[in-house]
Amino acid sequence: MKKRVILLLSVTALVASCKEGAKQTENPLMQKFETPFQAPPFDKIKLADYKPAFEEGMKQHKAEIEAIVNNPEAPTFENTIVAFDQSGKLLNRTSAIFFNLCEAVTSDDMLALAMEISPAVTAHGDEINMNPKLFARIKTLYDKKESLGLDPLALRTLEKYYDDFVRGGANLNDEDKAKMMKINGELAKLSLQYGNNLLKETNAFTLVIDDAKDLEGLPDNAIASAAAEAKNRGMEGKWVFTVQKPSMLPFLTYAKKRDLREKLYKGYYMRANNDNANDNKAVLAQMVNLRTEKAKLLGFDTYAAYVIDVNMAKTPEAVHAFLERVWTPALKVAKQELAEMQKIANKEGMREKLESWDWWYYAEKLRKQKYDLDESEMMPYLKLENVRDGMFEVANKLYGITLEKRTDIPLYHPEVETYEVKDVDGSSLGILYLDYFTRASKSAGAWMTEFRHYTKENGKEEMPLVSVVYNFSPAVGDAPVLLTWDDTETMFHEFGHALHGFFTRGDYQRIAGTIPHDMVELPSQVMENWASEPEVLKMYAKHYQTGEPMPDALIKKIQESGHFNQGFATVEYVAASLLDMDWYSQTEPQQFDVNAFEKASMDKYGLIKEILPRYRSTYFSHIFDGGYSAGYYVYLWAEVLDADAFQAFKASGDIYNKELAAKFRKYILSEGGYDDPMGQYVKFRGQQPSEEPLLMKRGLK
Ligand SMILES: [Zn+2]
Repeated sequence: MKKRVILLLSVTALVASCKEGAKQTENPLMQKFETPFQAPPFDKIKLADYKPAFEEGMKQHKAEIEAIVNNPEAPTFENTIVAFDQSGKLLNRTSAIFFNLCEAVTSDDMLALAMEISPAVTAHGDEINMNPKLFARIKTLYDKKESLGLDPLALRTLEKYYDDFVRGGANLNDEDKAKMMKINGELAKLSLQYGNNLLKETNAFTLVIDDAKDLEGLPDNAIASAAAEAKNRGMEGKWVFTVQKPSMLPFLTYAKKRDLREKLYKGYYMRANNDNANDNKAVLAQMVNLRTEKAKLLGFDTYAAYVIDVNMAKTPEAVHAFLERVWTPALKVAKQELAEMQKIANKEGMREKLESWDWWYYAEKLRKQKYDLDESEMMPYLKLENVRDGMFEVANKLYGITLEKRTDIPLYHPEVETYEVKDVDGSSLGILYLDYFTRASKSAGAWMTEFRHYTKENGKEEMPLVSVVYNFSPAVGDAPVLLTWDDTETMFHEFGHALHGFFTRGDYQRIAGTIPHDMVELPSQVMENWASEPEVLKMYAKHYQTGEPMPDALIKKIQESGHFNQGFATVEYVAASLLDMDWYSQTEPQQFDVNAFEKASMDKYGLIKEILPRYRSTYFSHIFDGGYSAGYYVYLWAEVLDADAFQAFKASGDIYNKELAAKFRKYILSEGGYDDPMGQYVKFRGQQPSEEPLLMKRGLK
C-alpha cells in the first residue's frame, strides 16, 4: 500500500524554507530544520505546534496564490505553472508530518486535532481548485501550449495541471459549478456516514463462546486472543470472536463446529445490511447516483469512464475485458478446489454440500494434504534482521545502492531505525525510516509514505525522506523477531515503494513520481518476486540459531504451495472488482434495490454460491469511502505488469540482470511520470506486457 498526503492540486512540495517576513517564532515547525538532511525534528515538535503551523501554512499558500492570480504580467509558464507547482511548502511539510504521525503514533488528542484541522485544510484546497482567476491563467497557457516553446516535461506538467482543474470542474459554467460543489459536499458526508455505519456494525457483532468444547480445533494463540478479548469486555472466563479478520479467520480456518463458523461468517458478510439504523444500502445507492451525475456533468457517460480516463487502462471496456480474461480460468480452478474439498468433507462423513463458511476450514485441510507445509517450519529462517539485510542486498545487486545505518536522525518513536541510502557513486539518495512493530498507537496494515518528497527547484535537488511502517509482532523478552512468510513478502513490498520514492526524478512536482493509480503497485509488487526466488532465499533465509541456509526441500514446498487456493483468491478478488465496475457503469441516476443489483451482477458472471465477492456492497470501503471507486481492479492490473517485468529478468537467465534493472529504474521508477505509462513500460520491456506470467504465477494456466 502506498499512502501519500495529497491535499492540494499542487502535489506535495516539502522543502524546508522559512519565507522572508514570516513570523519569527519558537515553533519548530515554522523554522528551518537544523538537523541532518533537514529531517523533521520530532524530538522538538509538540502537539500545540501543529495548529499554528497549519494556519500560517494556509495563510502563506493563499498569499502565494493571490500573487499568481494578481500578477499584472500576462501568464507565462514560469509566473503561473512553476509558481503554482512550488507553492504551499509550509502547509505541505506540516501536513506530511502531522498526518503521517496520526497513523504511526497517534493519540486521542492527535485525532481530535485532526478532526479540527481536516475540514479547514480541505476547504482551503477546494478554494484553490475552483479559483476562476487561477484557472483562467492556466487555460490561457494551455490554449496556446504548442507555441510556448516548452520542453516535453514542462509541456506535460502544464497539461496535467490543466486536466486536474478540468476534472475538478473548473471549466463548468457557474450553475454546473454550484451543482458540482453540492455533489462533492454531499458525497463527503455520505462517505463519512458509510464508514461510520460500517464501523458500528463491525463492532456490534460478536460470537461469544462459554463452552470450551466449542473451541475444538483452534490453535492455542487464537484461543488466548479470544479469552483476552472476552476479558476486555468484562466476560472473563468466556471467549469472544469478532468479525475483524485477525479474530475471524483463525476461527473459520480451524473451528470444528460448523454452525458456529456459519454464525460468525454471516455476522461478517451481513454487516450494514441488516435493515437497521446502520444500514448502508440507501447510502451507497445515493453515492452511486451522485457520482454518476458528477461524471455526466464533466462530459463522461459513466463514473467508471471518468475515473479510468487518467489510468493506464484508459477505458472501462479495457478493464472489463481484462477482468473477464482472468475470471474464466480462475472460476474453473476454484471449482476444482471446491470438488477436492468436498471429497475431504465426504470422507470425514459430511453429507451436505459445502457452503461459503466452510471454505477456509477445508482449504486448510487440503493444504496440509497437498503440500505438507507448516508456517512454523519456515519462521526460524525468517529472522527480521536477516530478511531486512536480504532485501537491502537484492537492491544492491540490482541497482548498486547501499544502505548505511544512521543514529543521528531524530525519531518519532524509539523503535524506528534510519538508514542513509547511497547511490553507486556514493551520492546520497535520502533517508529511509523503518518502523517495524505493532503498537496501540499505530493503524493496522503496512504502508510507505514520505516526510519529504523528492524536489528539484532552480536546479537544486532535495532528497526524499521515506518512511515504511509495518505491523510485525514485537519480540517477547530476549527472543529474536521471527517473521511469517506473509510478513516477509510485505517487507519486500513496502521496500519496493520506498525504492520508487528514492529513485523518483523530475523538474516539476506534478510529474515527479506521479504514476497512474493502476501502476502504483508495480514498483512494490515486483519486489515480492525476488523474495521467494530460491537463489535469493538461500542468501538471506538463514536459521537464526545455526546460521544454516534454508534447506532445498523447504524451499521447494514454498514454491509449490504458491498455487494453493489461488482459484478462490482470484475469484473473490475479481468478483469484487466486477461488482465495483458494475456499480460505476450506470448511465443515469436511478432507484436501486442494492441486494438485487448485487445478485444480478454476480449471477451474470456465474459466481458460485460457495464464494462471496471479497467485499459485498454494504462493506466495500475501498469503493465507497476509500478512494478506489471504479479502481479496485488496480492491484491485479499491476500484477500483470510485475509478473511480466520479473519474467524479463527470469528469461534473461540472471535475476539480477543489471541492464534490465537500469532500464526499470530509469523508465519506471525515476521517470514513470514523464510520459504515457504504457509508453514508459514498453521502453523498459521492449514490448507490451503479457498476461501469461500472471496466469502462470497464480496457477491459472
Ligand atoms: Zn503497496
